[in-house]
Amino acid sequence: MTTTEGSPPPVTGTFPAPPEEVAARVKALEAILIEKGFVTEEAVDKIAEMYEKEVGPHLGAKVVAKAWTDPEFKRRLLEDASAACRDIGIAAGVQGEDMVVVENAPGVHNAIVCTLCSCYPWPTLGLPPNWYKYPAYRGRMVKEPRVVLREEFGLDLPESTEIRVWDTSAELRYWVLPERPPGTEAMSEEELASLVTRDSMIGVGLPKQPGQPD
Ligand code: FE
Repeated sequence: MTTTEGSPPPVTGTFPAPPEEVAARVKALEAILIEKGFVTEEAVDKIAEMYEKEVGPHLGAKVVAKAWTDPEFKRRLLEDASAACRDIGIAAGVQGEDMVVVENAPGVHNAIVCTLCSCYPWPTLGLPPNWYKYPAYRGRMVKEPRVVLREEFGLDLPESTEIRVWDTSAELRYWVLPERPPGTEAMSEEELASLVTRDSMIGVGLPKQPGQPD
């Protein structure tokens, strides 16, 4: 096998690895970290519980709904997303120090990816879905986003819509402010938030239409 010097080796083997293999690796790593005194079992449990029960895309949906109804908040969100979220009680915290919100508009659709690994705005979207970490998404999304959106996510955007793909990193964590669906003028902030899906904030989907089931 020949490789260009300095390039990473190609990904080999089955990917994603079977869940039992991943679970075994995680357990082994956790055991070593606890044994070496870097973390405690309680700390690991607490973080897992927090992301299971408290932090998730419902927080991002709340932010989006507020931006749809409050122009001043939207201005602040686009200017400094981490600060705007802090203002309404969503702590930047782990993996959310430098969040940047990009706004969809007529003819402009944004989507996020982490080409390097799986960087993601945890405070507002929770933990990333598994497919977000797969090389297929990370590689293809920057090369042929229109095809990936259509074939993998059923989102068929008109040719005239410009697609902007943002490469999220540990320093800058992008997420998307989707367009407010038409026919929602009379809805409350809470009702609007129920239309905002996780995928619409990643940019691989759109918000639900009023009356559309889950
Ligand atoms: Fe990453």
